Amino acid sequence: MNLHKKYRKRIILGITPIILTGLFLLWQSEIAKERQVPIGPFQIADNLYYVGTTNVSSFLLTGPEGHVLIDGNYPETAPMIIESITKLGFNITDVKVLVNSHAHSDHAGGLAELKETSGAELWASTGDADVLESGGREDLSFGPLRFLHFIGLGSFPPVQVDHRFEDGDTLKVGPLELTAHVTAGHTPGCTSWSFPIKDEDRELLALNICSLTMMPFTSLTKPESYSGIREDFEQSFKTLKDLPVDVFLASHTGWFNLRHKMKEQTSTDKPVTPFIDPEGYRKFIEREENHFLEVLKDQSLK
Ligand SMILES: [Zn+2]
Repeated sequence: MNLHKKYRKRIILGITPIILTGLFLLWQSEIAKERQVPIGPFQIADNLYYVGTTNVSSFLLTGPEGHVLIDGNYPETAPMIIESITKLGFNITDVKVLVNSHAHSDHAGGLAELKETSGAELWASTGDADVLESGGREDLSFGPLRFLHFIGLGSFPPVQVDHRFEDGDTLKVGPLELTAHVTAGHTPGCTSWSFPIKDEDRELLALNICSLTMMPFTSLTKPESYSGIREDFEQSFKTLKDLPVDVFLASHTGWFNLRHKMKEQTSTDKPVTPFIDPEGYRKFIEREENHFLEVLKDQSLK
């Protein structure tokens, strides 16, 4: 009888993680589907267009000597991005450079297909380049859930990086000029991109925030998720707070309230007006920093 109970306990202990992993995978795949619903495409400002989904952003910055595409979205979303670019009247083969906010499947998944179709170069930060080239398998930010990459979750088609950059480097395509701000922490090479935008006779600074989110198993204290993660987050908040941002953009649409701003566009003669939101930018960073400080305090007390 006792022996029977012992085996039953072992079977339950063995099966439980499998069931939990299965439920987690199902939940993740449902989230991924919801996040891939198309929205737009539409113009945000002068030469800036939104070509992403309801949840995950992709931006097209157009120029006379070629375009720059920011973020590749999910692997399954690449055809939708290509279609959106065509709908706007541009040609995918005129995209000369692809850049990425960070090497997670929802932002980097479509890069391989987009690169192949456009023939563009891929620029990536030194901190995330190896993860892009490994299709996510070199990613440390999933902590103990990293094994999920080996069964397909969180991994994505590997993509070759043509140019590796550091914090503060600039990317130029004709008159287009983008500055890379490595705002690390979410991933070691998480990159926020800033670029000027024309609004009639004045110039606005647009910035696409990479991410300031901590993953479920992020450890800011020893053993850290990766060496220096706490300092990276602290520096990222400082970098972003110091930038005089006018047009607030981010890699997830909810962070900069895309749907609300889209609606507001209908009641203005200039599409960029609702997107000029330095206050929303400041509040978002403040909220994320407060959360970071709470997590740091909790983890330091353990
Ligand atoms: Zn991410």
